[in-house]
Amino acid sequence: MPLTLTDRKTDWNEIEERLYDLDYSGDEVAIILPKLQRFDELRQEKNAILLAHYYQIAPIQIIADHAGDSLALAMAARDTGDAEIIVSSTVHFMAEMVKILSPDKKVLCPAPDASCSIAEGMNGATVRRIREAFPGCSIVGYINSTAEVKAELDATCTSANARTVASRIEGEPVILIPDHYFAENILSQIHDDRRYLVYRRHEGDDLIMFDPKAGEEIPIPLEDSEPPMLNKGTCVVHEEFTPAEVTRLKEQEGVELVLAHPEVNPEIAKMADMVGGTSKMIDYVKGVPAQKILYLTECDLAAPLREAYPDRKFVTSCKLCPYMKKNSLDLLGRMPRSGALRNRGRPSGGRGFETLAGADV
Ligand code: SF4
Repeated sequence: MPLTLTDRKTDWNEIEERLYDLDYSGDEVAIILPKLQRFDELRQEKNAILLAHYYQIAPIQIIADHAGDSLALAMAARDTGDAEIIVSSTVHFMAEMVKILSPDKKVLCPAPDASCSIAEGMNGATVRRIREAFPGCSIVGYINSTAEVKAELDATCTSANARTVASRIEGEPVILIPDHYFAENILSQIHDDRRYLVYRRHEGDDLIMFDPKAGEEIPIPLEDSEPPMLNKGTCVVHEEFTPAEVTRLKEQEGVELVLAHPEVNPEIAKMADMVGGTSKMIDYVKGVPAQKILYLTECDLAAPLREAYPDRKFVTSCKLCPYMKKNSLDLLGRMPRSGALRNRGRPSGGRGFETLAGADV
């Protein structure tokens, strides 16, 4: 049911309680609440809504109109008909997704330089080179990619539907991009006779593809004119988990259930009871009796997990996404007057609050 903004009422007692329940101290709550109230005033004044990814700090998730994973946020914003402004406290590619689904709305990025190491790992020219090298292929891209890359794809998938999209799309080989840990984890669940390839990295003058069934890498020579890749394109958060760490946490904490995000190394995925995205992790807990649960994803998923299941214990080795954390309560409280907004389509180290390309400022 679409949210009607005129019906929205902020219950400050409830917000305070939620902060205490999440172990914020009295001193911390005294600092946080005025910042939330400042943002709430601006939000009401401007007829805006706030989207917060599950990797935002808990206070931002609590004050948000919608907290969720990337596609869910974009869909929720699309369905909030009477909002004039959508503030996307996420990373840049997620704000782009919001804009793609709500092209007539003003979409604001509090931290336009909040990129993503996966999205940075590939550009449109990379996709075109891969397509040239494999005539007849279909290229399926993960949602963690820029709009420039998405425009070159045959299909975009999420962690929830990647297996279905990859196994049903026409064309061969089916190529999954980025990132390769995610792709290899998804392909380990597909058992048919088709040929699947994964883009692994840029190395020297080659793009390196990987054939999981053959277990071999395939280099594709780059043309001189190809722009360089920005990085290897794995998630700086999820690649940090190690088998030794998972074993230690399981033993130390008496863990009964391990949840892993599909962006972890496949060696880690094999150690998990369930591999899935953030929403799937939250839903999965509902159906199992385990009391001590290890979650292998960004630390701040703790807030929705603990609020949904206050009687369970959630443990992790707390890893924070440096891109997501570029958003802050202070930035939200500085939402500028419309005349002060700038309009730019690419992340580039700005100081906050820019509109995405095409927005009417
Ligand atoms: S947690 Fe990883 S995939 Fe998510 S935004 Fe940060 S770097 Fe990107």
